[in-house]
Amino acid sequence: MTANILFSARPELWPVYQPLMTQYLTNAGVAFQLGTKFEPDQVDYVVYAPNSGLRDFAPYTRLKAVLSLWAGIESIVENDTLTVPLARMVDHGLTQGMTEWVVGHVLRYHLGMDRHITVQDGVWAPDPPPLASDRTVCILGLGALGEAAARALSALNFNVTGWSRSAKAIPGVTCFHGEDRLRAALTQAEIAVLLLPDTPATENTLNAETLSLMPKGAHIINPGRGPLIDDQALLAALDTGQIGHATLDVFRVEPLPASHPYWTHPNVTVTPHIASETRPVTSAQVICENIRRGEAGEPFLHLVDREMGY
Ligand code: NDP
Repeated sequence: MTANILFSARPELWPVYQPLMTQYLTNAGVAFQLGTKFEPDQVDYVVYAPNSGLRDFAPYTRLKAVLSLWAGIESIVENDTLTVPLARMVDHGLTQGMTEWVVGHVLRYHLGMDRHITVQDGVWAPDPPPLASDRTVCILGLGALGEAAARALSALNFNVTGWSRSAKAIPGVTCFHGEDRLRAALTQAEIAVLLLPDTPATENTLNAETLSLMPKGAHIINPGRGPLIDDQALLAALDTGQIGHATLDVFRVEPLPASHPYWTHPNVTVTPHIASETRPVTSAQVICENIRRGEAGEPFLHLVDREMGY
């Protein structure tokens, strides 16, 4: 049987993915038709980006799976019209990009780079930074992205801790898990990196209480999702100096409104959701491998647990 594959993403991505997917699926020996338009009841797989506008999957009666181009699937996970397996994106290129972004911002804080880049005031005040081994960085979320960032920071000799829902064993990383161990994870965290998904259980993971557990002057880096942080609590903690600085890549409302206090707060760096992105060359391989698996009757990779929400 020929697998009909609907590519449902921003139109400018189609000329990029079409040749890559054609090559990978042909090499994998899959019989397929790939396009941006099919009768819904003829579609076997949807390659999906949430910003494509497709919301109602009910007419897609022969669908075998929805394969997300995005790692964050919070906008589709509760869609009741979607009753088939949903796979999220785990992509080597996306992971590498996130690792680079996280390591860069951790090093910026660790080395105190801002002071010398932004203040050239003629004052000679030698105050060298400590070694990485004397700096504790906590990664909240030890999934595809968090684990890679934790390993990279550990390779640089940082004292790395991490927190997840289930137990982990990652060489060089002190791992905590479960709600009641968040306190233990945060109390030593001079720098906290949020790489949790946006679910009801993770909303406001950083709030007035948890921010107060961190060492005074701690730094926050959030490339995860906006709702992970109680914004008012963070602004208050920045104003008292409990939190020294925050670098925020993701927000409850994106684009971040021009009037939002984050834009003007002296101790906040806003970046416009650029920490990482799905890279076509590697992600097309991931998508095509899942289609091959579906056609061969093998289990899909990277399935979302709809109950857990990620
Ligand atoms: P994964 O699903 O692989 O990992 C999620 C991690 O969070 C897991 O370790 C999981 O624990 C943990 N977690 C989930 N719920 C809880 C909870 N209630 N308490 C404690 N830990 C929890 O996701 P990825 O690593 O692939 O991606 C993480 C997020 O990064 C995405 O959801 C997305 O929001 C964001 N992202 C941001 C990008 C950007 O450019 N800013 C780009 C790509 C992704 P366990 O391992 O036990 O399941």
